[in-house]
Amino acid sequence: MTTGLERVLRPGRIGRLALPHRIVMGAMHLGWENRDDDGRALAAFYLARVAGGAGLMVTGGAAVSAAGADVPGFGVLDDAAFRDRLRRVAGEVGAAGGLLALQLFHAGRYARPAADGPRPVAPSAVPSPISRLTPDALPAAGVARIVEDFARGAHHARELGFSAVEIMGSEGYLIDQFLSPLTNRRDDEWGGDPQRRMRFGVAVVRAVRAAVGADFPVVMRMTGDDLLPGGTDRDTVAQYARALVAAGADALNVGVGWHESPVPTVQAVVPPGHWVPVASVVKAAVGGLPVLASNRINRLTQAEAILAGTTLDLVSMARPFLADPALVERSRAGRPVNICVACNQACIDRSLVGAVVSCMVNPLVGREADPGSGAAPAGTDPTASAELPASTDPTGSADPPMPAEPVIHVEPVTRAGPVVRVGAVAGSRAVAVVGAGPAGLRAAHDLALAGHRVTVYEADREPGGQFRLACRVPGKADYAETIRFLTAELTRLGVVLHTGRPVAGADEDLLRRYDGVIVATGVVPRRPDLPGGALPHVRDYGTAFTDDALGRRVAVIGGGGIAVDLAHLASEPGAGPPRQVTILLRGDRLAPRMGRSTRWAVLAELRRRQVTVVTGVRGLRVDPDAVHLVDGTGAARSVPADTVVVAAGQLPADALVRTVRRVGVWHRVVGGARDTVGLDAVRAIAEGHAAALAFQRAARGTGRALRVGEPA
Ligand code: SF4
Repeated sequence: MTTGLERVLRPGRIGRLALPHRIVMGAMHLGWENRDDDGRALAAFYLARVAGGAGLMVTGGAAVSAAGADVPGFGVLDDAAFRDRLRRVAGEVGAAGGLLALQLFHAGRYARPAADGPRPVAPSAVPSPISRLTPDALPAAGVARIVEDFARGAHHARELGFSAVEIMGSEGYLIDQFLSPLTNRRDDEWGGDPQRRMRFGVAVVRAVRAAVGADFPVVMRMTGDDLLPGGTDRDTVAQYARALVAAGADALNVGVGWHESPVPTVQAVVPPGHWVPVASVVKAAVGGLPVLASNRINRLTQAEAILAGTTLDLVSMARPFLADPALVERSRAGRPVNICVACNQACIDRSLVGAVVSCMVNPLVGREADPGSGAAPAGTDPTASAELPASTDPTGSADPPMPAEPVIHVEPVTRAGPVVRVGAVAGSRAVAVVGAGPAGLRAAHDLALAGHRVTVYEADREPGGQFRLACRVPGKADYAETIRFLTAELTRLGVVLHTGRPVAGADEDLLRRYDGVIVATGVVPRRPDLPGGALPHVRDYGTAFTDDALGRRVAVIGGGGIAVDLAHLASEPGAGPPRQVTILLRGDRLAPRMGRSTRWAVLAELRRRQVTVVTGVRGLRVDPDAVHLVDGTGAARSVPADTVVVAAGQLPADALVRTVRRVGVWHRVVGGARDTVGLDAVRAIAEGHAAALAFQRAARGTGRALRVGEPA
């Protein structure tokens, strides 16, 4: 066991439930809870986390009534088929020694029903900025019925075999809507003053406790700070926490912010651990009862520091368990962890639109039931699917056949230290991965995990590709951890990594030594033909990211995520006066493809730093002191600039594809080298994974396949 995690790895307790350690896997709606597969995929998801050392895990929300469902397709506990699936999930997790709590959920005014679904209900008819609907105000009898719905849901949870329940009372869902003066405008027994606004949440806890009995663990997820002007004040939160305990809660899991709060809570711009003091305030109010910290905690070392520096008892982590199912075991063993980088791209942003969740750095999420099949979960965004087109060769050429026997190729192991040559097993083949960006590294990792002999060639002096640029952006330092994790895994798996070694047209003989080649050579910045574009102070974004010599007045040409990242980097406070940063974009909307949960937070940060954004830009011309243009209003403008950065798109770096075709070796082209349209890291990494699966399928055709995707 690694040292330094003594507090985290100490056993804990919630009510009568003994916990193996102090980490709780927080609730995440996955999007396949209600899939018609007898609960197989859902069970496999949780079982993978049990195998990776997870203690208590909380399911995504299970609606206590149809009107409480968040989105169409959400699991509703009144549905017998849904309960049957949950029974299987709880049974399999319990049989594997896992602990699973069912989260009891009611969305209230946040519900986004199908056209023929029930109308959203809430304490008062206050419009929801999330659903853009106005809910029906509940009559008093309707409020009492929902309390009974929670009790019935809790009874189901116990009967179905769950280890505990968690009542969802945070993030601005129904219970929070009763608590807040912003959304509860009633003047009856359920509203009118803080005592009456608390009554609904307290009544739910009391009813749930009565339904499950004294010995069944009940966790209340509550909001410690709603981060809304005019929202619930701290005194009320403290009183409410005490009332919840008196009503029968065994633990309080403290969330921060509502979905509509104007303050980022879980985005990468939020420093890890930032919200711990909010949980500490609740802990101070309730004394000895277990209180969980949550929100933006992505390492066990952070959890250890929280437990050491506060009186908090447990730490809830959710997305980190998507990124690495073996988060606890790897941390315990001192092994590298696949860190959640808080991008939200494949998880929260998908959940917000009712799509199936995955993970940017772990494309196996959702495929735990059949990791080697390549079958994408139903409803998955096709850009993140494990399925690549039959041929990913941009030239459209057909797949060359896989040789019946592996190419004889023994790569000398030059790396010092212990190296496991997994590829020595029977049936393994030699694969070259060209390009060590995230897509190439993921392909190499999955191929090596399957037992193949993998060699990676990277033209740059270091692996990482675009992630090495991204990790310089404020809040994105953890992108370096993805590279660190994958390269460490490659070392463990015996992959040979050649850096500073481009593979080009003259390398046909080299390529012939492999059974397959994954072309993951990435992109090159697009340099539009621009008057003055050859001046020495004009540079492409790749250079600008790695060049510390940006001037004091920086003009960024481009309007996508890279331009925003660059503006963020350039406007970072540092030595000297703040830089004047101006973004010049052709369109009228900055970073239109950036995820819904992140875009507003990043743009707010740019506004705070007084970054100027000029839209509708035409007629660009650069001279040594300024960029001249016509803006969206038709006005001629000159933007002073001593550094001009061009972030106006990318082109595939696909020159190697023609060589690979000439050689006639089996190959796949992934990531930016395949296509830069709609490119993001989620797609690139998913394609790296998919390429490994495709190689497996091709090898399987020769009867010599190994499995891809075994747990590390
Ligand atoms: Fe974390 Fe991004 Fe994965 Fe979500 S998609 S779990 S935020 S790394």
